Amino acid sequence: MVNTYGGGVPMKVVAILPPSEQVQAQVAMVRALFSGHTVELATNAAELEPHLPDAEVLISTAFTPLTRAMLQAAPRLRFIQVAGVGVDHVDLDAARELGITVAAVTGANTVSVAEHVVMVALALMRGLVPAHNQLAQGQWSLPYWMAHARDIQGKTLGIVGMGRIGREVAARMLPFGVTTFYYDIQPLPPEQEESLGVTYLELDALLPECDIVTLHLPLTPETRGLFGRERLFAMKRGAFLINTARAELVDEAALVEALQGHLGGAAIDVFAQEPPPPDHPLLRLPNVVLTPHGAGVTQEAQQRIAQGVIQNVLRFMEGRPLADVVVQGTR
Ligand code: NAD
Repeated sequence: MVNTYGGGVPMKVVAILPPSEQVQAQVAMVRALFSGHTVELATNAAELEPHLPDAEVLISTAFTPLTRAMLQAAPRLRFIQVAGVGVDHVDLDAARELGITVAAVTGANTVSVAEHVVMVALALMRGLVPAHNQLAQGQWSLPYWMAHARDIQGKTLGIVGMGRIGREVAARMLPFGVTTFYYDIQPLPPEQEESLGVTYLELDALLPECDIVTLHLPLTPETRGLFGRERLFAMKRGAFLINTARAELVDEAALVEALQGHLGGAAIDVFAQEPPPPDHPLLRLPNVVLTPHGAGVTQEAQQRIAQGVIQNVLRFMEGRPLADVVVQGTR
């Protein structure tokens, strides 16, 4: 007998989430909430494997790719709920062919990523990380600070991808007195451009204009590799690149090269391999601000994402229309 939430036939739900105390607590809460259903936790692909033959619902994050082979090994799988907005880690073509529904949770970490961008933009402008590291190692870093620290006021910002996150970044940068250009496949209506204080430019016109370029595009076949060597070197000399979107938008090897002379620095939240290997050249550069794919996982964002996931899984269990559907399945 199913009680509390999620009536109907008992289902097996597997959450593939990174190991953390918060995740353990959330899964315990979901178990209690969906009592009558089976809720399992897998913290990586190896732990997921034994559940694939009978899993009906997967709760999935960008940290564990769901490949065609994995989806083919899950004959009872009907629904993949992504805990977040980026769905590029799911083989969407395979999901479509197999009739598996895929949905996201949009907007839950928009503000968190936008705040992160403001934080790293200021950190890059000031040379915060190297100055801190020097002082922590016993050197009085004031000379470095004085040679590098700059105000953000009066600088030029380029936002590439003016969706939910891009617009929140623009709104937060406006009071700093920056000039903001943006590029998107779909330009904003003029009244929204005016209220955000932003001006549209084609990508290749934007790059040489901007002191800071921040990426907020989804990873799609069209955006993969958009920032190859040529575009990185088309950026202004000494400019900063911020990537909280997806690593594959940027040629990582070319970025490492550009950071050794052409660019002033970069703030990178996403890596081609996560976690990056210890000898990854980005980890050794002095002019980078690195974070572990965490721009969107503040405490508050985790709660909002968990709420979005629970609400949508509940809708699925009860046969109600789902929010943020990416692939409409047939199973
Ligand atoms: P969104 O869908 O609201 O915005 C994406 C924008 O990109 C849209 O305006 C769209 O028109 C534009 N776009 C799509 N394809 C394009 C193309 N080929 N050329 C130019 N513009 C194009 O998404 P969002 O909520 O702003 O999130 C953006 C991305 O940020 C996500 O897809 C995800 O990969 C990433 N993200 C990362 C984290 C993190 O923790 N690091 C957290 C949340 C989101």
